Amino acid sequence: MKVLLSEMSWVEAKEYFSKNDTVILPIGSTEQHGPASPLGTDFLIAKAIAEETAKRSSVACLPVIPFGVSSHHKQFWGTIFVSPKIFKRYVKEACLALNYFGVRKIVVVNGHGGNLNALALMARELREKGVFVSVFQWWPASTKLLPRLFEPDERRHAGAEETSVNLALHSHLVNLNKLLDEEPRKHKAQMEGITLPLDTVDETSSGVFGKQTTASAKKGKKVVETVINELVKHVEMLKATKAESLLQKPKT
Ligand SMILES: [Zn+2]
Repeated sequence: MKVLLSEMSWVEAKEYFSKNDTVILPIGSTEQHGPASPLGTDFLIAKAIAEETAKRSSVACLPVIPFGVSSHHKQFWGTIFVSPKIFKRYVKEACLALNYFGVRKIVVVNGHGGNLNALALMARELREKGVFVSVFQWWPASTKLLPRLFEPDERRHAGAEETSVNLALHSHLVNLNKLLDEEPRKHKAQMEGITLPLDTVDETSSGVFGKQTTASAKKGKKVVETVINELVKHVEMLKATKAESLLQKPKT
């Protein structure tokens, strides 16, 4: 069975949507990940995890949305960002287009943490319209495994954790000679309890936060396998659950 919507004809899509009301939608961003890793890191990881999960659970997977909320990386060349408002609206309209064909349950596989606030708001709005959207992110999906494999300074943006996943999924896109470690600078206004509107460039010169040189494909493979297993469980649960029971209704 084909699972990638982009590879189906409309006749095949009709057949899928007339029998299934669940889909997977990968979303990421196009933003700097230091000199060693590709700008597509976030959307490439989301796409790979989403497509493999789709195959294992026989659920349709949409084409990845490659642009997200990442203006904080804009000083680094090649970063392409959209505003949270436009991003939310664009994703919401794509979900409503799916709803036209009867889709009621959408699993967003989000590869970029900066998208989360907009996606959470969108999911809340869509639930009121009868569409249940859940948002999956690979790094909190394995709260037991990841802290065992990586130290806290390896777990930040473009660090060893994320780079290991890149190595596991598409090692040819990582330039091992350019891996580096950079201790982020602390802004002078940074204090306990303070949130600042900082850009990446305020904290690092390379775009890497913390330790990256310890990245390994072996660790990355463990992470990928673990998070795909988690996501498959979630998708199977949604497939087996009636949309009505996931929506809001007045209290009994
Ligand atoms: Zn990233």
